[in-house]
Amino acid sequence: ELARKLNQTTYYFDSEVEQHAAQRVTQLTKLRQAIANRDFHIALQPKIEFATNKLASFEALARWTDSEGKMNPPDQFIGLAEQAGIIELLDIQIVELAFAAIIRLQQEGINVPVAINVSIRDLASKHYVEQLKQFPQKFDVSPTFIELEITETEAMKHYDQFIKVLSELKNLGYRVAIDDFGTGYSSLAHITELPAEVLKIDGSFVRNIGKTNSANHVIEMIMRLGNRFNFEVVAEGVETEEQKQLLREMGCHIGQGYLFARPMPLDDVIKWSKTNT
Ligand code: C2E
Ligand code: MG
Ligand code: MG
Ligand code: MG
Repeated sequence: ELARKLNQTTYYFDSEVEQHAAQRVTQLTKLRQAIANRDFHIALQPKIEFATNKLASFEALARWTDSEGKMNPPDQFIGLAEQAGIIELLDIQIVELAFAAIIRLQQEGINVPVAINVSIRDLASKHYVEQLKQFPQKFDVSPTFIELEITETEAMKHYDQFIKVLSELKNLGYRVAIDDFGTGYSSLAHITELPAEVLKIDGSFVRNIGKTNSANHVIEMIMRLGNRFNFEVVAEGVETEEQKQLLREMGCHIGQGYLFARPMPLDDVIKWSKTNT
């Protein structure tokens, strides 16, 4: 009886694993197709200056509308693209979309930077980095209008590889931000040499601000690091008026989150900007 149950369990387990693997293969085939077809869009989310409620910049977030018309959020395809070694093919399309968005925004009189998310694998790709070097001329847009967001965890794990390429891009005029800051394990020595001008406080701390001592301590610490080493500090995931207030009291001036606006398609962002800034 036990043996039969075990066998059954094993059989059940196997088929689940197989099903899962088959789904992955299907998803990856679709993703490759989407890259070939350029089926990606960006949603733009404003970053707001607390004191004035004025628009400071945008972040471009990748969206994939698949053949069934379903909108897939990044956590369903960025990781997959990274594992499959094709993330730089996707991300370079996002950079192009960001440059195009900046041109359109400027035509509408909205002159603020747009941030894009960069994976460490992008920075390891010759093609991706070459394109980044050429795009400002190709699109006739100053690189100071593009901010490259790289997560603290990836930046620190691949520090040597990261610092070299990002310093080059920063010297060309790109702005650099360290994303999800506070979740990684930055050494103080590395923080002082980061080729970046912005630290983005991870949303997990913002969510717990005023609720847990550890969240308050982490944010206070990031603010102090920011002041001491001249980083601009931006809070992500600001959802309530109270969170905004506490962040302000701690000396943070800029934030992004549902309190202000959700990520929106470019046309909506233009309408939003005209009524909100
Ligand atoms: P991230 O760069 O830290 O982006 C912030 C995420 O928080 C976004 O999720 C955004 O929609 C969400 N968010 C914004 N405000 C709030 C809020 O008030 N509350 C909550 N709960 N969430 C908020 P999204 O768009 O699903 O992106 C998830 C992650 O996927 C991003 O995290 C980024 O790491 C990655 N990602 C997005 N686009 C790209 C891309 O083009 N390339 C790469 N390599 N990664 C990307
Ligand atoms: Mg980001
Ligand atoms: Mg983030
Ligand atoms: Mg985050």
